[in-house]
Amino acid sequence: MQTSISNTETRFSGLPISGGIAAAKVCLFNENRHSNLSVYKVTGEGVALEQNRLRQAMSLAADRLDVLVEDVAGRIGPAEAQIFEAQKAILGDAVLVKQILEDIAAAGLNAEAAITRVLDGYETRLLEVDNEYIKERASDIGEIRRRLLDVLGNMNPSLQCGDQEHCQQGQRRIVVAEELTASLTVELDARLTKGLVTERGGPTSHAAILARALGIPVVSGIKGIRSKVSCGTDLLIDGDTGEVVAWPSEATTARAKSQAKAAVRVTRAVEPVPQLTVLANISQVADADDAIAQQAEGVGLYRTEFEFLAADKILDEEEQFERYAAVVKAMDGRSVCFRLLDVGGDKGASLFELPEEENPYLGRRGCRLLLDRPELLRAQARALARASALGPVDVLYPMIVELEQFLEIKQRFCAALGELPGDRLRHGVMFEVPSACLQARELLEVADFGSIGTNDLIQYLFAVDRNNEYVAYDYTPDRPVFWSVLGQIAAAARQTGRPVSVCGEAASNPRFLPKLMELGLTTLSVSPRFISQLRLAVREG
Ligand code: PEP
Ligand code: MG
Repeated sequence: MQTSISNTETRFSGLPISGGIAAAKVCLFNENRHSNLSVYKVTGEGVALEQNRLRQAMSLAADRLDVLVEDVAGRIGPAEAQIFEAQKAILGDAVLVKQILEDIAAAGLNAEAAITRVLDGYETRLLEVDNEYIKERASDIGEIRRRLLDVLGNMNPSLQCGDQEHCQQGQRRIVVAEELTASLTVELDARLTKGLVTERGGPTSHAAILARALGIPVVSGIKGIRSKVSCGTDLLIDGDTGEVVAWPSEATTARAKSQAKAAVRVTRAVEPVPQLTVLANISQVADADDAIAQQAEGVGLYRTEFEFLAADKILDEEEQFERYAAVVKAMDGRSVCFRLLDVGGDKGASLFELPEEENPYLGRRGCRLLLDRPELLRAQARALARASALGPVDVLYPMIVELEQFLEIKQRFCAALGELPGDRLRHGVMFEVPSACLQARELLEVADFGSIGTNDLIQYLFAVDRNNEYVAYDYTPDRPVFWSVLGQIAAAARQTGRPVSVCGEAASNPRFLPKLMELGLTTLSVSPRFISQLRLAVREG
């Protein structure tokens, strides 16, 4: 990844926050508008005047929030409007107001300085709490501070390149900002914003919930993105995979557009159909809500590594258990297939302190890494065994190369459980490396189930980098060899009586549905927003 502004296609990997694909020009959010605040001392009568300025600012900020609550309630929904009600409640908190008033009097600070000092203190303390939900609430405090400073300085949230055509409302813009905040999502007239990319902001943030409700693709967690692109840079973002491409080539853009077309949004859930089982691909606890809203018949792929990337730390057994238990409970008796950590390749190198490799996709990735790092496998195995007491839990092993490797890692998984019961867990093989596909029958004889990861299978079968636009013409499921490999796995499933699903992107394209069904591959796992269109395709025959 580069550090200076260039104009050759450059890829960044972030956290998928809100699904969908967007292509537009960058509009940088003006985060620095409060960097030159006037700070002055007040004494004598000045103190009362300053306190009055504060009270007036609070009252005006509360009025603006009232307008926002009404607007959001009408435009999005009452639950979403609650987010801003909560901010208004913070503004009316008597202890907080008293503390800022006292700071003005005791330290002789002007209103701007007192607000910054008191609210920064609260924000820092919340960020220190080891609980993701509470950490996310720190962003509400940050928003209140920005609102008050905007009122006092008569400023508006603005875009750095607001005077440029592409940035103006109604044009095609992707807003790039430091932090994903609720205000940013709704107040920048999100309906006219094609997408958002931010450096910070988690999946449980209010902003993420709002973005999903509004259907705006969002990717967060790309550190330093603001200095790597500039106003007007062409950007392509995929809110389902977390991929952001700056200066995309024509081929990359064309590929994304055809994907987006295939994903014509069907917001209304479509009832399950008997001919096809449709499961959900999720990457974070919050996505379980989308799966339920779309009546997914279970979770067919939970990419657990995204929980680690979202928390920006290696989660211990307890932290993993909390997340896994929440999803199992939310799915209420429907099975959840947890893929063991699939880091390496383009994911998690710095977080997991992976040494640089020349070919990371051919290196210590997926199960290879888990075999090298027993502490990671152990914590995850134990968390999953505990979650299996709450509902059906399947464990999926990524990047399996051959039978011996599967037996070895499964044995280590079970050994790590110690006193925990593991009898309710089902163990499955991910078919994404050609050598494992050729051994499908032997693997399915010892596994409980299989899942075909077409994304990597295409990459390894045709020796074509899934992220390299120069060879994108070779990255396609439209090849007889690919279907012949799928046919062999389907035959092995029939012979062994083991269920096999398909969880790569090819499963979400209705064009491939007849071929998959013909092969007997009638369990597909896709991003929740594709569920309805697959069912409709079956119904319409
Ligand atoms: C796949 O390879 O098809 C898959 C589903 O996994 P990922 O895209 O996370 O590698
Ligand atoms: Mg894969």
